[in-house]
Amino acid sequence: MYINGQWQPGAGDFAVFNPASGERIGLAPEGGADDARAAIDAACAAFPAWAAAGAYERSAKLYRAWELMMAKREELARLMTAEQGKPLRMALTEVKYAADFLLWFAEEAKRVYGEIIPSARADQRFLVRREPVGVVCAITPWNYPVSMITRKVAPALAAGCTIVLKPAESTPLCAMAVFRILEEAGIPAGVANLVTTSAPAPVGEVFCTDPRVRKLSFTGSTEVGRMLYQRAAAQFKRVSLELGGHAPFIVFEDADPVHAAKGAAAVKFLNTGQACISPNRIFVQRSIAEPFLRTLEARVAAQRAGDGMDDKSTVGPLFSQRAIDKVEAQVQDALALGATLHTGGKRLTEGGLERGFFYAPTLLSAVTPAMRIYREETFGPVAPVILFDTEQEALAMANDTHYGLASYVYTQNLARAMRMFEGLQFGMVGINDINPTSAAAPFGGIKDSGLGREGARQGIEEYLETKLGGFSI
Ligand code: NAD
Repeated sequence: MYINGQWQPGAGDFAVFNPASGERIGLAPEGGADDARAAIDAACAAFPAWAAAGAYERSAKLYRAWELMMAKREELARLMTAEQGKPLRMALTEVKYAADFLLWFAEEAKRVYGEIIPSARADQRFLVRREPVGVVCAITPWNYPVSMITRKVAPALAAGCTIVLKPAESTPLCAMAVFRILEEAGIPAGVANLVTTSAPAPVGEVFCTDPRVRKLSFTGSTEVGRMLYQRAAAQFKRVSLELGGHAPFIVFEDADPVHAAKGAAAVKFLNTGQACISPNRIFVQRSIAEPFLRTLEARVAAQRAGDGMDDKSTVGPLFSQRAIDKVEAQVQDALALGATLHTGGKRLTEGGLERGFFYAPTLLSAVTPAMRIYREETFGPVAPVILFDTEQEALAMANDTHYGLASYVYTQNLARAMRMFEGLQFGMVGINDINPTSAAAPFGGIKDSGLGREGARQGIEEYLETKLGGFSI
């Protein structure tokens, strides 16, 4: 663990495994509640000097971290593929995305502006100043094990906050590699601290209940996010939550069905479907169902599951047995209730794949609201297609979920694109676009998908307080 500028052992170690082969690839220190408290002690002690260091100094350190991460891109990507399973090409893309947050917030650090507000009284002046919220605790998931860290650490540090981060138990090695970069970039002792553990609950409890922690930032499941939000409420901590999603992908008859199907295949199987913005319900207007399904089926069947180090692999393993079980249960339920299986639909157990958690890229059609897959987040490589007749019907079905993260629309009709953009109850809407994400764009959801935004100009706001000065002169 990295606490107060020192690499420290835990009470013992826990093993980290490659999800493609089941092979043990390393050990991480087993931290606990005491380590979390020690890291918060360090973050508290470091806070006044870091907050006072000034935007230009903080910016320079983040900029250096960006340079180092880009220089180590290949090395980090290889570690990510071994630890998390995604194909190396995608791991390289993620490291670049992760580094983008360091660069973006190195720049935003210098743009934390205040305000001067006119007063009704001639002898009064109002000044508004933005200040760092204080010590931040952050919890990150395994599916994007590098970028989810920089998306929190970079804005926190840019704002002048200090941070304690707990990564997911299955990807601590990537987190350690990121913190080595922060150390090498000259981030002072205590400003960024890392606590690894295989048992997250006691550490999470300290994060929620230590009164010195002023902000909690979490990315992960809606269930854990809800629990942490409730625990943190007692002390009115600021909370940002990036939770689950159930993205609709809507294709209208005025779109090019082949282009839309290629887009659907590209975004659905990204990270083996283990992305919170992954399309989970593909709605297709009945009149173009045939060409759309034909192209999508060909694209899904052409996916190649395998070890991410093999450059022919386009889809890696799922991350656990639990993930395989959930996907299998959803597919079986859909088939029992009348869905049509076009391709896939089974665990892959040949050619060495039996050692990892591989599931065949799968296409289902004739999916209905009665099926589990229509309601539940899948987090796996299954594309369920649902047909619709009218725009109104598509919008109503798309919004019929308690999630509200990403959504996608394919149409060539400008007025319809605008109606959908305004009508979809989601934090992000891709219009003829499968990747509405960037360090420069606000990422986040509404409803059960969470609170707050990450990245963009808005991302740093999450780590700032507003202070008013009223001066009588
Ligand atoms: P998870 O909630 O179990 O784990 C996420 C993190 O929470 C991990 O670091 C884990 O150790 C920690 N955690 C688990 N229980 C905890 C507890 N009691 N106290 C403190 N920390 C605890 O989620 P998961 O199933 O591993 O991850 C997948 C979920 O994350 C999906 O639902 C996905 O949609 C969501 N996700 C969301 C985003 C986003 O940006 N919105 C990004 C990635 C993943």
